[in-house]
Amino acid sequence: MSIKTIVQRSMLVAGLVVGASALSATSAWAADAAPDASTAPAAGTPRILVLATGGTISGTADPRSAIGYNSGNVLGQDLVRGVPGIEKLANISAEQISNVGSQDMSDKIWFQLAHRIQEAFDRNEVDGVVITHGTDTVEETAFFLQSVLRSDKPVVLVGSMRPGGSTSADGPGNLYEAVEVAASTKSQGRGVMVVMNDQIHGPRWITKTNTTAVQAFASPNAGAIGYVDPASVRFVTPPPQSARNVLGLPAAGPLPRVEIVYAHSNMDGLQIDHAISDGAKGIVLAGEGDGDASKEALAALDRAARKGIVVVRSTRVMSGFVNRNVEVDDDKRGFVVSLDLNPQKARLLTQLLIANGVTDSQKVQQAFGGTW
Ligand code: GLU
Repeated sequence: MSIKTIVQRSMLVAGLVVGASALSATSAWAADAAPDASTAPAAGTPRILVLATGGTISGTADPRSAIGYNSGNVLGQDLVRGVPGIEKLANISAEQISNVGSQDMSDKIWFQLAHRIQEAFDRNEVDGVVITHGTDTVEETAFFLQSVLRSDKPVVLVGSMRPGGSTSADGPGNLYEAVEVAASTKSQGRGVMVVMNDQIHGPRWITKTNTTAVQAFASPNAGAIGYVDPASVRFVTPPPQSARNVLGLPAAGPLPRVEIVYAHSNMDGLQIDHAISDGAKGIVLAGEGDGDASKEALAALDRAARKGIVVVRSTRVMSGFVNRNVEVDDDKRGFVVSLDLNPQKARLLTQLLIANGVTDSQKVQQAFGGTW
C-alpha cells in the first residue's frame, strides 16, 4: 500500500478529511516533477525538529459553538503523535517554544526560535525544522527567520485554519505535508518556506488572503514555489541564490519601534505626527494604490524624514510593486519604497536594518531590493 493510501485511510479512520487538490505543476523544472522517492524514509532517515509555537493548529474546538475555538491548547509533541503515518517520513523530535495565538507573536519568541534553529543547524542536530504557528502572522515569522538565519537548510512553517476536533480539520494534513517538505531532499538549499493546503510558498511573497477559508494563503506577486501532497513534493521554481542577504540578529530584543500608518481618504497628518512624538525610529506607509497618501500625510512624512526617521512607502493593495519616483518624488523627500514587500514585512525589514545601524535612505533602499 502506498504512503498516500495509508495516510488517507488512516485519516478517514480518524474522522479527518484532507483536501487533496494536487495541482499540476507545469514548469521548466521537469526533474522536480517526477514522483518523489525522497518522501519515503530509509537508511539515513532525515532528522526533523518540530518547534511548536501555538495557533489554531494547536487549538481545540469550543463545544459551546460551531465556530468557536481556543488556539494554543495542544502541545507540539501531541500534535505530531496525532498525525497517522508521519513517523514514516522522518525521525521527529518536538519542542515547545510557546503556545500562543500568533496575534501574540513577539520579538521574544522570534529570538528564541531563531537561536534554537541556528543552534540545531550549527551542531548538525537536524536536517530540517518544522514550525507550527498561528496563521495570522505566520508570514511575518517566516520573513523574519529568512532574514536572520545563517543556513539554507529547510525551515517549514505550517498552520491550520480549523482547530483539531472540528469537522474537516486541516491541521493533521498540513503538518504531515510540512514534515514531508522539510524531509525531502528537494528542499535542500531552499531555506524558509510556508506549507498550507498542499502549497509551498516563499516568505517574501506569501500573505494571508482570506479570514477563514482553508485556501487562505497566496503569493500574489509570484505564485506558489511548489506543491505537496501525501505522495510527492514538487517545486516549480529554482532554489534561491545562495548569496542571501542575512541581517544580524541583535543580542536581545525588542527590535526598534517602527509604526505602520494606514492611508485612507480624508487623511490628515495626525497619526504620523503621533508616531514621531511617540519615538518611532521608522514609519511604514500602507499607502493607497502605488504607495500614495494625501498631501497632508506626505507633509507629515517629510517631517519624519527630516528628523532622521526611516520612511518607507508600501501599499495597502494586495499585489503589485511600489516603485520609486512615480507619483511621489522619493529622491527629493528621502523616502524608501517597499517594492513588493507588504507593510508588515516592510516594517520587519526596516526594524532589522535599523537594529543593524542601517538608516541612510539609499542604503535602506538597497536592502529592500535596490531598483529591482
Ligand atoms: N489568531 C489565531 C492565530 O493566528 C488563529 C488563526 C490561526 O492560527 O489560524 O494563531
